[in-house]
Amino acid sequence: MIPRRCNHCEGTEKVGNMTVPPCVKVCPEYPKDRRVFITPEGKKIRYRGGATYKRPDGLILLDNDSCTGCGKCIDACPYGARTFNKRKAAGKDKSKHAIVKCTSCVHRLDEGVTPACVNTCAAGARIFGDLNDPDSEVARLAKEFKLLENRDKTTMKPEAKTMPNIFYIDPDGVLADYSFDEKDKLAEYRDIVE
Ligand code: SF4
Ligand code: SF4
Repeated sequence: MIPRRCNHCEGTEKVGNMTVPPCVKVCPEYPKDRRVFITPEGKKIRYRGGATYKRPDGLILLDNDSCTGCGKCIDACPYGARTFNKRKAAGKDKSKHAIVKCTSCVHRLDEGVTPACVNTCAAGARIFGDLNDPDSEVARLAKEFKLLENRDKTTMKPEAKTMPNIFYIDPDGVLADYSFDEKDKLAEYRDIVE
């Protein structure tokens, strides 16, 4: 079993004043509506929504009501993090499927609760937090294991260079053995999750 989830990538392509990952850049329904994000400190940050979009706190999110189900974001994600949601229709005529992927449990985060995978991992293998807070556990680990300097190497597809925000601490260098880059394997994976 290989647990795989959205890396909530920083991305390298500029749209407005943000850099976005390939899944957002390719979406025909981005950028759309203007939104305001309020930080925990009460600061207001304006940004653009869309069928898939980047929130100013770094989360890459979905708005299935705006999604047309074109599937371009599935093909654009190098990690196979997206798939069609067979339980939700998309598009004006509702003839296509909307998209589903990990949201880092945004509904929980917005209530101050960590993602379900973090809460339920019996081994405590997952650590979630604010990289910009120097006193946080994630910031301490990022510094200790030089995760930000080597962020692309901490995924199963280092050549994608999407600047992931999910880091695997891999002191023994075993991650490369699980490299996942063949399109047919992605298709196989999609079949399984669908
Ligand atoms: S892992 Fe894929 S779906 Fe998630 S932000 Fe990166 S490119 Fe987009
Ligand atoms: S399937 Fe939806 S979210 Fe993905 S690129 Fe198309 S419109 Fe955007």
